[in-house]
Amino acid sequence: MKRIGVLNLQGAVSEHLTMLAKLDNVKPILVKQPDEIQSLDGLIIPGGESTAISRLIKENGLYDPIKQLAKSGKGIFGTCAGLVLCAKTTTHITQADRTVMPLALIDIVVERNGFGRQVDSFETNLDIVNIGQHIPAVFIRAPYIESFAGNVTPLAYIDDHCVMAESDNILVCSFHPELTGDARIMQYFVDKFC
Ligand code: GLN
Repeated sequence: MKRIGVLNLQGAVSEHLTMLAKLDNVKPILVKQPDEIQSLDGLIIPGGESTAISRLIKENGLYDPIKQLAKSGKGIFGTCAGLVLCAKTTTHITQADRTVMPLALIDIVVERNGFGRQVDSFETNLDIVNIGQHIPAVFIRAPYIESFAGNVTPLAYIDDHCVMAESDNILVCSFHPELTGDARIMQYFVDKFC
């Protein structure tokens, strides 16, 4: 059984649990405390509000344990706000961005809310490298990957905007894969990274 944690601070937590529960050989675990991190085989940082999640990561003393988990080679999957938190930095720094302290797990620069505001939210189908075609994806106040460097591989684009990428043991996407009935992305994360 692979122990896959879902960071239980704010945002789309239960939806990830529901999707993980569909997979074989996965034990989904809610994590909120530093001592719950180390024994995981993988960790999902869900979408929500990156300013709130960042503040709660700091308040709960989770910043270093998550960095440590990544350093030990365990898989980390950041979705939407989770992508913002995994990034090296954000571009066009606004006052709200200043309150986000990214974990710098993957060498990407992120445009927060790059696809616009709540009213600009949309659903589409993506062709994703390594995973498959016509994969449904829900974008809600979604960021995109403005630039990437080092050994980062882009996996999916909308127009010129990179919306999914991976490097070593880190996977990120700027949308919500857990809000659809399609478990292919989650299966990819568990099989390849955890
Ligand atoms: N734009 C939000 C943020 O930066 C992310 C939105 C989401 O996770 N759906 O926190």
